[in-house]
Amino acid sequence: METPGSQTSLHRANLERVVRAVRMAGSLTQAEIARATGLSAATVSNIVRELKDGGTVEVTPTSAGGRRARSVSLSGSAGIVIGVDFGHTHLRVAVGNLAHQVLAEESEPLDVDASSAQGFGRAEELVKRLIAATGIGQDKVIGVGLGVPGPIDVESGTLGSTSILPGWTGINPSEELAGRLGVPVYVDNDANLGALGELVWGAGRGVRDLAYIKVASGVGAGLVIDGQIYRGPGGTAGEIGHITLDESGPVCRCGNRGCLETFTAARYVLPLLQSSHGADLTMERVVRMAREGDPGCRRVIADVGRHIGSGVANLCNLLNPSRVVLGGDLAEAGELVLGPIRDSVSRYAIPSAARQLSVLPGALGGRAEVLGALALVLSEMGDSTLLDSALPASAPAFT
Ligand SMILES: [Zn+2]
Repeated sequence: METPGSQTSLHRANLERVVRAVRMAGSLTQAEIARATGLSAATVSNIVRELKDGGTVEVTPTSAGGRRARSVSLSGSAGIVIGVDFGHTHLRVAVGNLAHQVLAEESEPLDVDASSAQGFGRAEELVKRLIAATGIGQDKVIGVGLGVPGPIDVESGTLGSTSILPGWTGINPSEELAGRLGVPVYVDNDANLGALGELVWGAGRGVRDLAYIKVASGVGAGLVIDGQIYRGPGGTAGEIGHITLDESGPVCRCGNRGCLETFTAARYVLPLLQSSHGADLTMERVVRMAREGDPGCRRVIADVGRHIGSGVANLCNLLNPSRVVLGGDLAEAGELVLGPIRDSVSRYAIPSAARQLSVLPGALGGRAEVLGALALVLSEMGDSTLLDSALPASAPAFT
């Protein structure tokens, strides 16, 4: 009979701490595991040996600071995770293993007016095709991370009103996809997944407090506070696009006036250039022409940066993040938009709130959300399945 605080349960808790640290980091040296878990080097060494014997982790030689070290990652054969990202005009799917390797990835266009049933049908097909392409059995799938471009109600799991996929409001995306694939599905909005993607795989690696800003059809922020996504009880945290910048500004889709979104989102910004640059302009083209030196496009991108910077300054005053990562097409503008963001931050944030801040472009481009969906499964899956299948029923009680 196992009691809390017994040798066995303490040992089990230590195993879980090590697995959790490696699961989110991808790979760590034994010294890094000791730092991350607070366990002694000897305990980490014993636990890693046990996990390796059970097939839960793999150990490969590496070097850390010029010294030989051993890099520990979850076993690539321990299972696979799936990421599915629904965007405004695309569907993207990735298959990864627990060692943070992407095994297959594909994106296809999605009609914005497609019904949710059509959308999930396409996702089911693409997921099954990519799993087949990896040659790994579908029984190895641990879970699916699903990104949707709108707020998810934390209690009901339903998609809130969103003008981005108009026919989808009120559906439960996680139930829809789980019913089709027969595995657990974890769902979140695209800004939160972009934040997770950059945190685990990209420009946010190594920090614990980060805001990921995505400017596309709407403007949103994914917030990471002390290493965790912060969602708020209604799943609405990070709606930076609806900070009021001008009370008598244009009417926003939320019903207020002069929101940050009305100065930065494509549908408000493109009309400024359409009489001089043609009616079929896209944000991607504006960014490209700005990079090529077009003065009108440069001015518009700089103004967008200044306005985003006002929002980021508010974020700094409230949350004091150490890094802001800009995602979406706009990140391709590089310093043309990042410079004005930094200028506004230094103008409007209190100095101590912005002192440690770095503002960087996303490192993952359009893949941030789907990789974030993989990271969501890695963060939500728990360790019990992994340890129960790999370890003998009564693990030896050394610590
Ligand atoms: Zn608004």
